[in-house]
Amino acid sequence: MASNIKLAEAPEGHEGSGFFATSFDKVIGLARANSLWPLPFATSCCGIEFMATMGSHYDIARFGAERPSFSPRQADILLVAGTIAKKMAPVVKQVYLQMAEPRWVVAIGACASSGGIFDTYSVLQGIDRIIPVDVYVPGCPPRPEQILDGLMQVQELAKNESLRRRNSPEYQHLLESYNIQ
Ligand code: SF4
Repeated sequence: MASNIKLAEAPEGHEGSGFFATSFDKVIGLARANSLWPLPFATSCCGIEFMATMGSHYDIARFGAERPSFSPRQADILLVAGTIAKKMAPVVKQVYLQMAEPRWVVAIGACASSGGIFDTYSVLQGIDRIIPVDVYVPGCPPRPEQILDGLMQVQELAKNESLRRRNSPEYQHLLESYNIQ
């Protein structure tokens, strides 16, 4: 019987009878990209779209990301979905700080990306005011397909990231610009 199971694509390398050789960073990237553990930080309507993304129809498990972690210490990717009030901002930042490197951040929807329709004194006008963001998913709300697309963008980043990037002066400079040591 034909199988519909699609295996992750192998990275570039050299193969022959009984062997496949590639570089270490590509193997690490492949493993990281296909085993991202999300921490859903959902505060409002966009969180519902993320719940749909977790469900069987959209099935985030196809990307190896079906294991949501509500402990930052066991999460690789922070998915901020919803409006972040300024009172909530320090909590988002604390969650980010408790995540181990390498960590990625996705701003899901207009509110997390820019404050959305809430151009008001009490709402953070985008989470990139407090933490670095890797991928922005547009929409109010975005459809689950868009959230999956955002996840796939992070997979590309994870696959192609140099193993030394997190120790680079550029990355340290980025963190310092957010007052993160
Ligand atoms: S972007 Fe739209 S759907 Fe998402 S949390 Fe904000 S108001 Fe709700």
